[in-house]
Amino acid sequence: MQVETGEAALQVLKSRYGYDQFRFRQAEIVQNLIDGNDALVLMPTGGGKSLCYQIPAIVREGVGIVISPLIALMQDQVNALNTIGIRASFLNSTQSFETRGEVEQQLINGDLDLLYVSPERLNTSDFFNLLHSIDIALFAIDEAHCVSQWGHDFRADYMRLKILHESFPAIPRIALTATADRRTRDEIIQQLELHQAARYIHSFDRPNIFYRISEGQNNRERLWQFIEDNHAESAGIVYCLSRKNVETVADWLSRKGRIALPYHAGMSSDQRAEHQRRFLVEDGVIIVATIAFGMGIDKPDVRFVAHLNLPKTIEAYYQETGRAGRDGLAADAWLAYGMQDVINLRMINQQNEAEESHKILQHSKLEAMLGLCEQVGCRRQTLLAYFDEQLEKPCGHCDNCLLPPTTWDATEAARMALSCVYRTGQRFGTNYVIDILLGKTDERIERNRHDQISTWGIGTELGNNQWRSVFRQLLAFAYLESDSELHGGLRLTQHAKPLLRGEESLHLREVVETSGKRRKRTNRVVVEQTNQPLFERLRSLRKTIAEENGVPPYVIFHDRTLHQMAAVQPLELEQMAELSGVGEKKLTRFGSIFLREIEDFVVGESGDELN
Ligand code: ADP
Ligand code: ZN
Repeated sequence: MQVETGEAALQVLKSRYGYDQFRFRQAEIVQNLIDGNDALVLMPTGGGKSLCYQIPAIVREGVGIVISPLIALMQDQVNALNTIGIRASFLNSTQSFETRGEVEQQLINGDLDLLYVSPERLNTSDFFNLLHSIDIALFAIDEAHCVSQWGHDFRADYMRLKILHESFPAIPRIALTATADRRTRDEIIQQLELHQAARYIHSFDRPNIFYRISEGQNNRERLWQFIEDNHAESAGIVYCLSRKNVETVADWLSRKGRIALPYHAGMSSDQRAEHQRRFLVEDGVIIVATIAFGMGIDKPDVRFVAHLNLPKTIEAYYQETGRAGRDGLAADAWLAYGMQDVINLRMINQQNEAEESHKILQHSKLEAMLGLCEQVGCRRQTLLAYFDEQLEKPCGHCDNCLLPPTTWDATEAARMALSCVYRTGQRFGTNYVIDILLGKTDERIERNRHDQISTWGIGTELGNNQWRSVFRQLLAFAYLESDSELHGGLRLTQHAKPLLRGEESLHLREVVETSGKRRKRTNRVVVEQTNQPLFERLRSLRKTIAEENGVPPYVIFHDRTLHQMAAVQPLELEQMAELSGVGEKKLTRFGSIFLREIEDFVVGESGDELN
């Protein structure tokens, strides 16, 4: 029997999804569920989690119930499934009573392969009664980290999902998440009673993402430079800290000629939905957002994710940047931050009303994030190490690998900085202290008589920028801390002592002027020799079809599939069917239209040659 079900799964993969083979451990996971066992799946965003429950739900008798908190996405997910001929529907609070009734009828009639449902809906007694009266193939608990109180997306409704196991012990369950750290994982197992489940923990590496982190000024200008150089036409997400920033940056990018749409919790939900829709449906839109945006956005062709501020944790950074390049093609993660970010985040944490233990945790998470920013070695090694995964060699595909930063002996400078903080009474901010080091005077300095202390003017060998970099790193490495009660006034920590006493030396990263320097891309992801003009034509055809059907372009075909079409230039439906991402349904619906376009192109080209 084993073999037969295995074949059934592969058959579905080919005929519905148009893919030749399972990726990573998908085959095992699918088989495990088909056999009726539980599974816990940890895979990075874009790894291919959905197939892991969709295919068993189709192969097994009955409907697969998918629990997801991402209500806003259900419609899209269901559309995408319907497009490839899978009978799917959803139930959540956004629907009218009538619509819900219709979906429930579909369930009762056994007309569905998959049903997406919000945890709130699932937890109602009506729905539970309904569940007891139908055939269920499996339960998939998506975004399973939401059961973790320790994690960053805790939802009380998820805690109740235990009941699935208690009420339906014979039905296999699969819990999935892209959040990887050990503690969250343990909590998922605990809360959902998945002790018996087979665990599939996939590497969290996203080899197609190029990581770049820099500190500096004019971050906005540098962002523009980066976008212009690398992503003149592609879609991306720019994260900002505040709503106000979101608005100004979106405005600014629009004035530069890009379609840039704001997204934050202060906007009406209609407006937000509209912007999200345009981001999904139109080509090359930039969404400028607070972190309110993106949970579960599964647009595969987001080519870059930029941060104009420091994320609070590596988890958040990894999750946000993970939204880039889900299609496996080259993508960028770009982060620029400043000293003020460090100070602000530390202050927010200090002022937080939470329990002390929570504060300490948040603090250490922020330190880890800063460590990632300031480090001189491979970013990917550090990122993966954070998720308990080892990468043997430097990756060769991050900024530090490509352009190793130089360091300098900053022992003397650090001492000057620290003693200047000390001598001014540990109550002033960075700008003030730097002014003293540079020997400046103004009314305030004179009033405080700080032009008469021993550290006044001792730092003229370095410029303002260099000093800022020194202070930032002293903050990052916790030689200095900023005090929330003094509005960011600096003071020494105990780490500062050995350095001041001359018992320790310190090497810091050199400030590099990154602006203007163009990065050479190392595209580790090899795209087949594509034909750009043909690709563009296919892309615009896709756009027209997508508009006619009211779906995002990638629902028609992924970029990857279009690249293949442009490279292979199939002239027969059979050849077209060979391409990755072309299943039976799509072949029937769109095959000939695309063939015609390719033929036109090929004929046009040979005509050119004759002339
Ligand atoms: P996740 O939910 O893990 O973020 P998805 O399930 O959305 O990822 O899959 C990411 C992308 O990879 C999707 O476009 C999906 O169609 C594609 N994909 C998944 N499995 C395969 C496979 N075996 N072969 C080719 N593409 C795949
Ligand atoms: Zn690297």
